[in-house]
Amino acid sequence: MVKAVFKKKYTIKKLSYISKIVQNTIYLKGKFFIPSDKKCIFEQKLMDTSNTQGISFIPSENQRMIQQMVRDFAEKEIRPNVMDWDESQHFPVELFKKMGKLGIMGVLVPHEYGGAGLGYFEYINVIVEIARVCGSIGLSVAAHNSLCTNHILTFANETQKQKYLPKLASGEWIGAWALTEPNTGSDAMRMKCTARKEGKQWILNGTKCWITHGKTGDVVVVIARTGELLDSHGMTAFVVERGTPGLKAGKKENKLGMRASETAEVIFEDCHIPEENVLGQVGEGFIQAMKILDGGRISIASLGLGIAKGAYDAALKYAQEREQFGKPIAHFQAIAFKLADMATKIEAGELLTLQAADLKNRHEKVTKESAMAKYYTSEIAVQIANDAVQVFGGYGYTKDFPVEKFYRDAKLCTIGEGTSEIQKLVISREVLQ
Ligand SMILES: Cc1cc2nc3c(=O)[nH]c(=O)nc-3n(C[C@H](O)[C@H](O)[C@H](O)COP(=O)(O)OP(=O)(O)OC[C@H]3O[C@@H](n4cnc5c(N)ncnc54)[C@H](O)[C@@H]3O)c2cc1C
Repeated sequence: MVKAVFKKKYTIKKLSYISKIVQNTIYLKGKFFIPSDKKCIFEQKLMDTSNTQGISFIPSENQRMIQQMVRDFAEKEIRPNVMDWDESQHFPVELFKKMGKLGIMGVLVPHEYGGAGLGYFEYINVIVEIARVCGSIGLSVAAHNSLCTNHILTFANETQKQKYLPKLASGEWIGAWALTEPNTGSDAMRMKCTARKEGKQWILNGTKCWITHGKTGDVVVVIARTGELLDSHGMTAFVVERGTPGLKAGKKENKLGMRASETAEVIFEDCHIPEENVLGQVGEGFIQAMKILDGGRISIASLGLGIAKGAYDAALKYAQEREQFGKPIAHFQAIAFKLADMATKIEAGELLTLQAADLKNRHEKVTKESAMAKYYTSEIAVQIANDAVQVFGGYGYTKDFPVEKFYRDAKLCTIGEGTSEIQKLVISREVLQ
């Protein structure tokens, strides 16, 4: 009955509509559960299970619906423009407004603030399906949802949530999140951007760099120094609206890949903001940022997974069509084994990402698991895109086929939101505790 409704209506419905019909079907020990309270039944079934080997991450009907809807949207609205946007480094603002109407700009935001009210499994599907077609758009959707919007959702007070979340979730506003500075990337604790209190205002000074939507973003969540250098309680998060005097966009970067995702400097010059714009407590900004990155890494894991899937799909198809020595190149073991390696790495990356998403959905600590998912899927995205170019041979090296772009885009995943080396630092700290 429920399936029939889905099959008829899935194509271009809002994500929130889908989530309202069926709240997260769960597949466990060979059975589907369609609970009214997902968390409660999931935990109950886990307790009934003597070990966790029976758990399957087979997607629910709800997740399949969302996946199909986003896939259809990406094929129709993104695929035809991918190379134009890439060549011209055009950040397609109108596309984000359309995605806002579908609920893609507020996937994790509860219905009460105008979002789709979904969980991390659905969020992964959204990012994967977009990145499978275009990594740049995947990156921008990820940064908007899991950095800026999620910071406000997690740490803002009720007034701030009411003010910002509906605009961000509907795509009316595009969000940016500014932590990195020219001299402090991995070592964010040494940031130089300062916020000084004067009466009921804070005055921001400094430069943030590499900021996704640094020019176009309507609202920026910024972490600035309010205390001593190297004091983890010496930084505070603020929300700043575009148009505030003293907030300027600097240089837009000309990048190797992810070229349709805008990356720019954000400059604060005596930028006065009211004290109501502090997010959470003064001194908690760095700790908040680390928590946001724990979730953000699930986004980048999904981004890597989507890029890997896109490159693999293209290579799989091409290997069966392209003939050399009188047969499809897929019949040569060297190529078939590459495809086998790609498929295996994708499934391993998917399981790591789902594991992190599951913990996040259950509000459990996810530091190690999200770092592992991010580290692994980023690295395999680069390897798979590289192998895909190899499968295409000379054609893979041209812009007439999609794999060269996946190859360029994939590299960002090993850098943004903490490099692969920093992920290994995080994982090793966790396992050595
Ligand atoms: C396209 C793009 C979009 C981005 N979007 C945003 C955004 O929206 N908001 C934001 O705040 N930032 C953003 N960033 C910044 C990104 O998070 C940083 O680039 C990243 O954290 C790395 O910092 P860095 O570039 O300064 O490199 P560095 O920290 O200078 O690192 C250089 C090299 O040294 C290694 N290294 C550094 N420290 C260690 C260590 N302790 N042990 C071992 N190796 C180490 C690194 O792994 C790396 O290989 C973006 C970057 C890019 C490229």
